[in-house]
Amino acid sequence: MKTYTVAVRTLCEFAAKQGDLDLRFTPSPSSQQGIGGHRSVAASRSASYRSELRLSGQYRHLVVRGRADGYDPDRQLLEEVKTYVGELDLMPANHRQLHWAQAKIYGALACREFQLAGLTVSLVYFDVGRQQEAPPLSQHCTATELQTFFEALCERFIAWADAELAHREGRDAALGSLKFPHAEFRAGQRDLAKAVFNAARLGRCLLAQAPTGSGKTMATLFAMLKACPGQELDKVFFLTAKGSGRSLALTALETLRRSAPGLPLRVVELLAREKSCEHPDKACHGESCPLARGFYDRLPAARAAAASAEVMTRESLREVALSHAVCPYYLGQEMARWGDVIVADYNHYFDGSALLHALTLANGWRVGVLVDEAHNLVDRARAMYTARLDAAQLRSVRASAPDALKRPLDRLRRSWTRLNGEAPGAYTVFDEPPRAFASALQEVVGAMSEVLAHQGKGAERADGALLEFYFEALALTRLIESFDSHSIFDVTREPGRTGGSRSSGLSVCVRNVLPAPFLKPRFAATRSTVLFSATLAPWHFYGDTLGLPDDTAWLDVAAPFRPEQLSVRIAGDISTRYRHRSRSLAPIARLIAAQYEEAPGNYIAFFSSFDYLEQALEELAARYPGIPTWRQSRRMVEIGRASCRERVY
Ligand code: SF4
Repeated sequence: MKTYTVAVRTLCEFAAKQGDLDLRFTPSPSSQQGIGGHRSVAASRSASYRSELRLSGQYRHLVVRGRADGYDPDRQLLEEVKTYVGELDLMPANHRQLHWAQAKIYGALACREFQLAGLTVSLVYFDVGRQQEAPPLSQHCTATELQTFFEALCERFIAWADAELAHREGRDAALGSLKFPHAEFRAGQRDLAKAVFNAARLGRCLLAQAPTGSGKTMATLFAMLKACPGQELDKVFFLTAKGSGRSLALTALETLRRSAPGLPLRVVELLAREKSCEHPDKACHGESCPLARGFYDRLPAARAAAASAEVMTRESLREVALSHAVCPYYLGQEMARWGDVIVADYNHYFDGSALLHALTLANGWRVGVLVDEAHNLVDRARAMYTARLDAAQLRSVRASAPDALKRPLDRLRRSWTRLNGEAPGAYTVFDEPPRAFASALQEVVGAMSEVLAHQGKGAERADGALLEFYFEALALTRLIESFDSHSIFDVTREPGRTGGSRSSGLSVCVRNVLPAPFLKPRFAATRSTVLFSATLAPWHFYGDTLGLPDDTAWLDVAAPFRPEQLSVRIAGDISTRYRHRSRSLAPIARLIAAQYEEAPGNYIAFFSSFDYLEQALEELAARYPGIPTWRQSRRMVEIGRASCRERVY
């Protein structure tokens, strides 16, 4: 029988988590703080201490592997190290229970590896703010006890692992014989599909420029899916800049599924929290939100139902989640672990704390990544690694801050005022973040972590403005920590600001210019990343700015249209300037009606504002009521905009 490999963390999260989902405010350390904390613990141990110890073991056909944080062979001590900020006492009991499960699984693997009769398992919590360890929590376990615990957890997981093995086998067999869903490829579409397939085969990245209308979404998805069996790809991530790109990908996947009935392909649409939260007025823990209460107790049934539904779009995930009384947003995050194709915004893979990237590393997945409309990635990535704070935010938070925050906020305000003297112009770039400012900001973040952790004890969300300021300050602090020549530290004086101190109109920003150093490891973690768009020239600009590997392939696909398919006609006698607008309405309506009469079909009319659109539409409807029309309204949400587009295409 084939083996199934699972990471220790995944096994524990699957088999040992229970009770409420509880994200009560427990601020987590940055990855640098986390790494630093682990190093500090390791540095304080003996010379024989082994950190990041690779361990693995097998139970029936289940292979369990991972890296234990630390093992001291002299003391026969296995340590699981967790870094934290704030109050350790606020950690929910089920988080602690999960940490014990991880420690014991590593303990069982270590006993096997080193032929031990038993060892001490210890949880070490390291406070990154105070740079000190809390007293360790330890228990001595025999090898038999640890093995029993290991087997019990594996038993809880193995039926799911068997189902996953069967699903994977069926998926790969079906993808191997998958046919292109249309009668023929469009011009250039086959070249693009071939290049994507080859990029996955060779384990390279690809930049592909292909004009609008060449069928990029279908070509790239089809080819990457075809590459899955041969390249043993665990997942395909289809990443988009906008909701419209997500809809196109989901439509293409639906077309593929319809063309191959019974294709066992799990598709997950991953959304932002604000788009799938059912209780935006509540906080994510059991005392506040009913969908967080008992979340992990009901998760197994919800997960099984979602997996068997296979297509997990926003609507279907919501339906499954609500029928099992669990949160749709967190069910979506769970299903990202078990989906074959994940359709999501760029930030789910490229952002500093992106879920898909973290899962890829933790589980050792082999992934193929498709980046849609990739010219957007430059600006989007810059924004992901940019953070700013305004003096107005500082002032308003200081005005209502609890006593514990007043002193650190005042210190930050004083360093802000000093910046005012050092940055007399409208816009000033500093060589690096001033130390006094960085240190005052860090102190504020530390103090706020503690205050907010205490606020989180309550049932409702912490103060919104305070929380918002905290997250922005935290982001700025983290970017100051990683500051280098890829970014600039600048101070902008808002024009016309009066009142308050002289620093009241200043905003402070770490502005990323070159996202390459942040994105490079993201590309390195994939088997192949394909970035495609209608405009990716000059390709070396995108390669350098985004940090693509040197051996990235480049493809320029020819346009699929013949020149005679395009007709450009300019109505030079209609002025659409603002002051001529009312006079332009009747001629525009006449023009549209004449075109429709000459060749009935689908047309899109673009206007420079919603007001203009509505006036022109009224005119058209009044004069030519027989012409059917649909409008994109000002407040139309993403689904409405997508269905508006679908009517046309
Ligand atoms: S429904 Fe909203 S508040 Fe409740 S757990 Fe989900 S995301 Fe949090």
